[in-house]
Amino acid sequence: MGNWAEKDLKYIWHPCSQMKDYEELPPIVIDHAKGLYLYDIEGNRYADVVSSWWCNLLGHCNPRINKAVKTQIDKLEHVIFANFTHKPVITLCEKLAKILPEGLCKFNFTDNGSSAIEAAMKASFQYHYQTGNPQKKRFMALTDAYHGETIGALSVGGVDLYSEIYKPILLDIIRIQGPDCFRCPYGKCRDNCECECFEHAEKMFEQFGDETSAILVEPLLQGSAGMKIYPPLYLKKLRKLCDEYKVHLIADEIATGYGRTGKMFACNHAEITPDFMCLSKGLTGGYMPMAVFVTTQKIYDAFYADYNENKAFMHSHTYSGNPLAAAAAVEVLNIFEDENILKKANEKAVYFNKIIKDKFLTLKNVGEVRSIGLINAIELVKHDKVPFDSKLRIGYQIYKKALKNGVLLRPLGNVIYFNPPLIIDDMDFVTDVAFKCTKEILHNN
Ligand SMILES: *Cc1c(COP(=O)(O)O)cnc(C)c1O
Repeated sequence: MGNWAEKDLKYIWHPCSQMKDYEELPPIVIDHAKGLYLYDIEGNRYADVVSSWWCNLLGHCNPRINKAVKTQIDKLEHVIFANFTHKPVITLCEKLAKILPEGLCKFNFTDNGSSAIEAAMKASFQYHYQTGNPQKKRFMALTDAYHGETIGALSVGGVDLYSEIYKPILLDIIRIQGPDCFRCPYGKCRDNCECECFEHAEKMFEQFGDETSAILVEPLLQGSAGMKIYPPLYLKKLRKLCDEYKVHLIADEIATGYGRTGKMFACNHAEITPDFMCLSKGLTGGYMPMAVFVTTQKIYDAFYADYNENKAFMHSHTYSGNPLAAAAAVEVLNIFEDENILKKANEKAVYFNKIIKDKFLTLKNVGEVRSIGLINAIELVKHDKVPFDSKLRIGYQIYKKALKNGVLLRPLGNVIYFNPPLIIDDMDFVTDVAFKCTKEILHNN
């Protein structure tokens, strides 16, 4: 790896990394990949159980998606998306419209998740501005939320690790104390509560609802917060409250969409239609940067007017609606249909959760094993519900050990998790490695 890793470090500033850590763990140079596995230039293999940042959905180098992209690239690689269009993107919208929650029918494309969030926030504000409610100009979000890294998206985020230092330059957000099921302050558990914690949302809406444009939520699963899972009832209540105060509900399904939670979209669990839904990550199977917000006819109509009324949504990204990404995205949906992906993933999920629980719940430092779809998270604790000191970097130590043993498990603080491609087969192998490494690291700390 030597020479390539050295050259990498000479030039590259890697995302979300303390670069000094690379002194001890140099970048791993990946040569090729297939299915669940990445292969480095020295021939080592890594099971990608984090789906390369949660986006690889149907395995690396999936033959069908590869073919779709190869075919598309010889026809049209990119075209300006104002006034021009192409068949792959139209087909994509047609297919998505059929499976999205009822009422979501207008698609606005961007090229990464954060940008889709920003675009939805702008469109929400502009909607209110143009429909006689210019006072609705603030945004609400939950504690521990994650919506991306650009300034608007980071503002609505609530994970201090990412946003703390930038607070002086971020938007002034209305923060709602969100659900915390593992450490429920009401002493309830997520399978049989009435979402007592929803009272915080009610109070904030009462106080700030009139000046609020939209609330952003990660439905059911706060991913970056450590795969925190909360019940669908919370979303049902939120939908009602939003209607009452004319606040848009922006569902950030960038991580939860595309079957990750066992249904095509997390909103399906609560049977709600948000006013905006943001998608990215799984959208192209993890192949190409593409994102979209989808909204309703009603919102779209508020922008539809003679040009000189200045009501258009003047938002663009150069690569909006890219044909290669659209071709990959269409093929992803074809594969879902033809290969019964969701049903099979749900069958795997039962087994995966069982073997993870069987192993990890024997360790006294495991506070909780929580799961939704194929996502399984293991929260490590000092004892009971008391967190480990983050300075110990328990998760990071397990990450390094697991890598040496061929499994890519990038943890979130003291939470180690699996968010594998939906086609995962080697569940026993990855669970065994993760368990052995966790046990050993815990033993040494
Ligand atoms: C990844 C993610 C984003 C940001 O998407 P990027 O493409 O990384 O900008 C936003 N929200 C959620 C829930 C995500 O998981």
